[in-house]
Amino acid sequence: MSLYPWQEKAWGRLNHDNAKLHHAYLFIGALGSGLEEFANTLAMSLICSNLTSTKQSCGICQDCQWALTEHPNLKIINNSVEEGASKNISIESIRNLKRFLELSSHKIGGNKVILINNAESLTLNAANSLLKMLEEPPENSYLILTTDNISSLLPTIVSRCAIVSSPKPTHEEAKSFLKMEGHENLSSQLPLFNNLPMDVIIHQENSDLFKTIISEFEKGKDLELMSIQPKWLSGDFPMIIGLFQKWLYDIFLFKMTSNFHFFESKKDNIKKLSDAADISKLLKLVKSANKIKLISNKPINKDITFDTLMVEYRNVFK
Ligand SMILES: [Zn+2]
Repeated sequence: MSLYPWQEKAWGRLNHDNAKLHHAYLFIGALGSGLEEFANTLAMSLICSNLTSTKQSCGICQDCQWALTEHPNLKIINNSVEEGASKNISIESIRNLKRFLELSSHKIGGNKVILINNAESLTLNAANSLLKMLEEPPENSYLILTTDNISSLLPTIVSRCAIVSSPKPTHEEAKSFLKMEGHENLSSQLPLFNNLPMDVIIHQENSDLFKTIISEFEKGKDLELMSIQPKWLSGDFPMIIGLFQKWLYDIFLFKMTSNFHFFESKKDNIKKLSDAADISKLLKLVKSANKIKLISNKPINKDITFDTLMVEYRNVFK
């Protein structure tokens, strides 16, 4: 796998000729920016026996071929995150890694590489066990961690790792990536997903849903509760509330600064709504929406909650 265009400079810095290899790395950044792929590039470069001129894995040597299925010197732990609730990485997984490091390399001089994604989901016991491994790393062993939430890691783990910031694409880079991938039509969604093109692609099936919902928000005080369809709320409710928060944010931002952040393409309507909005009611609604966002993944009555928000929304406008 090759790097994303916005990662090339950072890769050069990480892997320049005189760069000293560390025993442990912590890659931090946003998931939809290619964080795990970036860390994986380092892991594979430590496994490959025939590096390219940019020191990336070749993809064709025997080691690279093995790594496609299972390489005896490479262990990757991916915990899948489902519906916002992360599965924890247990102490048993870390004990297995310890045994893996204790067994000698399958060939003389080969590196042993461990890649742990979503390191924030290590249980406390697992994290402590990992810490011991970090204190006495065996020769030629490399531990690579990734996280999009460094504050939830034990500080003692963080302090033993070389920190690598995984870069985010600029708006232009994100746009040209979408174009390259044949998703130019999704470019207007980038601001809604923090400019992260992979997130836009993952959520593309929501693109039409978003458009429908936004067209209802655009009606302001004329929004009809009858138009709210059950299917809007039956899917990813936190995402729908998040969309509403962003919509309110732009109305508020325009009132204060005459600027937009998320919905440039809807500026005429946002301007109209912003002019008609009562600022104190708008602020109160922003607070209500924030409160609902916090509990939006809990078992609440979504219909009543959303209807109540929409009634409050309608009342914001003169
Ligand atoms: Zn190779």
